[in-house]
Amino acid sequence: MKIFITKRIPQKGIDLLKAAGHEIAIHDSPTPLSPAELIQSGQQCDYVLNGGMQKFDADFFRSCPNLKALSLMSVGYDNVDIRAATQYGIPVSNTPGVLSGATADVAFLLMLAVSRKAFFNHKQILQGKWKGFDPTAHLGIELNNKTLGIYGLGRIGFEFARKARAAYNMEIIYYNRRRNLEAEQVLGARYVNFDDLLTRSDVLSIHAALTAETANRFNQDTFKRMKNSAILINTARGGLVKEDDLARALCVGELWGAGLDVTNPEPMAADDPLLNLENVCILPHIGSATVETRDNMALMAASNLLAAIKGERMPQTINPEVYP
Ligand code: NAP
Repeated sequence: MKIFITKRIPQKGIDLLKAAGHEIAIHDSPTPLSPAELIQSGQQCDYVLNGGMQKFDADFFRSCPNLKALSLMSVGYDNVDIRAATQYGIPVSNTPGVLSGATADVAFLLMLAVSRKAFFNHKQILQGKWKGFDPTAHLGIELNNKTLGIYGLGRIGFEFARKARAAYNMEIIYYNRRRNLEAEQVLGARYVNFDDLLTRSDVLSIHAALTAETANRFNQDTFKRMKNSAILINTARGGLVKEDDLARALCVGELWGAGLDVTNPEPMAADDPLLNLENVCILPHIGSATVETRDNMALMAASNLLAAIKGERMPQTINPEVYP
């Protein structure tokens, strides 16, 4: 069977596929494929493993009649038109769970870094602006006993809330479409409505998937309802936050700070005004970027494809309704 991999993935995943005797082609380049190139590659293979941020739209599924399955090496699937995949009979799988701890670590890192203006203070040293110890300068805020609000308390939100509770005894409140009873029992998390999440959170961390419903959910209106002392963290997808509105809210003091692992667009422009604000820490989408986690994601993505090749259901299928 011919497998096309859209970007080089950790060798363990490639070895697993090779050991099963399959022919593999890899798009081994930092430049993403154009939509036409992606279709061309999709037409020449039976299975696709997506290692990058390629978009798979209805045109792709319509144009690749030989395609039998698509395996994503990510938990997010906002880059795939799942309805179209289902319409054309293509099962799509993702890699949930194995990246939750690493991504929650990045949310934690950003929360702490923002609370102490860490990135800005580091830049001050680089620019020769550190003039010595000053009792009234470089002041951050503490996290002990503060309220952590989670927008989208699922796998990653749970891990982050667990760490924040253990480290700083933070009170956990959350908003989902449905209650997360495990989080309520294990972490004492309290379910609140969206408005209470905005008005009560000292740190508000975004962990919901990017969908039509969540796109631009955090905007001028929501920032106005948050505490002036609040920190916003986003490790989900850049599209949930209106970045122009965020920059404005930070500049006029409606929010205290923000930590972003994801931006819109990616990569963020090097001269983006958010990068120079004092209470902002930005990372280049490194949530799952540890050796261990990326190995596990590659193995899970490869295992899903091997199941599909054997004619079995992919264990982590996003659109199970595709199967008879
Ligand atoms: P998950 O377990 O599905 O959790 C997402 C949570 O969001 C669910 O509890 C869901 O609960 C809630 N949700 C969905 N739609 C919502 C809405 N409209 N309003 C409020 N809550 C909503 O997913 P996960 O594994 O934690 O991953 C979350 C996201 O993180 C992914 O979709 C991905 O985009 C992002 N991610 C980023 C990185 C990175 O490198 N920065 C790494 C991994 C994942 P209900 O269904 O009850 O609403």
